[in-house]
Amino acid sequence: MKKIGILGGMSAASTQIYYRTLNSLTQAELGGLHSPNLLIRSVDFAPLAQHMNDGNWAAIGECLHAEAQSLAAGGAEVIVLATNTMHKLKDQIMQDLDLPFIHIADATAAAVLSAGSKRPAFFATKFTMQEAFYLDILRDSGLDPIVPEADQQEVINNIIFEELCKNITTPESEAAYLGILGRLKAQGADSVILGCTEVCLLINAQNAGVPVFDTTFIHCQAALKAALD
Ligand code: GLU
Repeated sequence: MKKIGILGGMSAASTQIYYRTLNSLTQAELGGLHSPNLLIRSVDFAPLAQHMNDGNWAAIGECLHAEAQSLAAGGAEVIVLATNTMHKLKDQIMQDLDLPFIHIADATAAAVLSAGSKRPAFFATKFTMQEAFYLDILRDSGLDPIVPEADQQEVINNIIFEELCKNITTPESEAAYLGILGRLKAQGADSVILGCTEVCLLINAQNAGVPVFDTTFIHCQAALKAALD
């Protein structure tokens, strides 16, 4: 099995889910005492989140590029950037690195299409919901994502950064998410993409009432497949 380099810590709450999911998928796939061959770099998210709020994406790209280089130097054979939002900087992060990069939006688009859904509600950070870098991939693949309105985006984004990234879940936030999802379903959403790696802490197959495409899980599946190919 190839060594998977995980560029994580964005947030640490979701990197824990990557670790658990990759372990359980490997167990299910290979059985016995098998576990995934991982190299995890978990960065301090606070300064990066500050840069995001300041719009200083160049500084984030520089930092994550150096971290990706360190994963490559440590023997990683496949790179997994364990956050949707930072895929905005994918080209800068992977610059000059000749390693397979498992793109979370490509893997997600493929999963939604193969399940036969077409109009997924889209829950993500405000950056991912407002900018083109991710939605274009979904749209170019033939999907018609339903993006929440500005006030709903505010609620979704605040809960991600104020609670989920700190591993905090509350019934009130779950109700807020499900309320927004209900309105998006009324607008025609036939499924939901959890387009942020922490949103699975609140929305899941049991409470959504539509097919759920969890980017964290889908990304782990795609990473393991690449590692075993
Ligand atoms: N983990 C999140 C995501 O999937 C948000 C944190 C970040 O901005 O990296 O987008």
